[in-house]
Amino acid sequence: MSKIKVAVVGYGVIGQRLADGATLQGDMKLVGVVDAAPTLTVRALHERGMPYKLFCAFPDRISDIERAGIPVSGTMDDILKEVDVVLDATPGGIGEKNKEIYLKYGKKAIFQGGEKNEVADVFFHGYANYEKGIGKNFLKLTSCNTTGFIRAVDCIDRAVGVEKVVVTIIRRVADPGDTHRGLVDTLKVDPLPSHQAVDLMLIMPHVKATGILVHTPVTHGHIITLVVTPKKKIAKEKAIELLSEHPRIRVVRIADGFNSNTSLFQYARFLGKPRSDMYEIAVFEETIGLSGKDIVFAINIPQESVTIPETIDGVRACMEMQTERLEAVSLTNKYLGMR
Ligand code: NAD
Repeated sequence: MSKIKVAVVGYGVIGQRLADGATLQGDMKLVGVVDAAPTLTVRALHERGMPYKLFCAFPDRISDIERAGIPVSGTMDDILKEVDVVLDATPGGIGEKNKEIYLKYGKKAIFQGGEKNEVADVFFHGYANYEKGIGKNFLKLTSCNTTGFIRAVDCIDRAVGVEKVVVTIIRRVADPGDTHRGLVDTLKVDPLPSHQAVDLMLIMPHVKATGILVHTPVTHGHIITLVVTPKKKIAKEKAIELLSEHPRIRVVRIADGFNSNTSLFQYARFLGKPRSDMYEIAVFEETIGLSGKDIVFAINIPQESVTIPETIDGVRACMEMQTERLEAVSLTNKYLGMR
């Protein structure tokens, strides 16, 4: 019997695994994979030397993929002419639209769990209801969780019968890299320069600034590292002294237990501060050092409360309550209970 010719449409988390799986079957031939954009999985396919031919879902998007240096072997229509069955692993709802094309070419298709059940003739599980899928044109797989626990329930059912099941699912919230679901177990990098560095130059135009921002999935404060080039070299001790004297800066010691963003959040709690608010930034003393004449250090920003003092300063300024800077900020500090 000649090999069954397979296409994978949607080369993402599931699609790339389906492509590998189909390739390993001795009685199947993967003709190629289809996607719509030069995604990371598509780029990785290219860097792996194109083990699978890539086709583009839409003719007008071929140039997007080719611009990324990735060869495209044709369109969805081209590959559909060559295959017997499609494994559709596009995001939920796209498979339903793709079904129209599969119907046009008279091709069978297997959809994944994100599609509505109505997309298929049979809601399918290889162990539990294989017979129902035989000869059908459109199958839809159960979701990942359902696929897994049906294996277990089915095996007990076939042995002794099952009357009732209660299922509690502790579900992973996102796959690695799923930034559209929020930052879950992810560090997301922004292009240089961060707007914060640009903003510094707007406020202090005499200083050149640039920098990188990486979003992290934490909620209790930012950590910033700074490399500050002074006009004249100062000793490390002088840097510590300058920072320590600033009323809105706390210089804290890692040796004393201030070794993280959360230690400062905790400490504000221990002080009984409302909502654990801290107006001061913290500089970790043991991070202060020199590289040539550059001063290097790390600070913690309590993002929810840090702008309160400067906002109140703004009231003083715009209302002309004080015309002397130090007089104004000192009053703000005093009323907010800072040094
Ligand atoms: P994904 O976003 O990782 O991949 C989908 C791919 O389809 C992307 O590469 C995207 O560029 C491509 N695509 C979008 N529109 C297209 C089109 N019109 N033609 C061709 N390609 C197109 O998604 P995924 O996580 O692999 O999910 C795919 C299906 O598998 C969904 O039904 C989902 O519910 C199901 N599923 C996902 C998981 C999981 O853990 N991620 C587990 C089981 C089932």
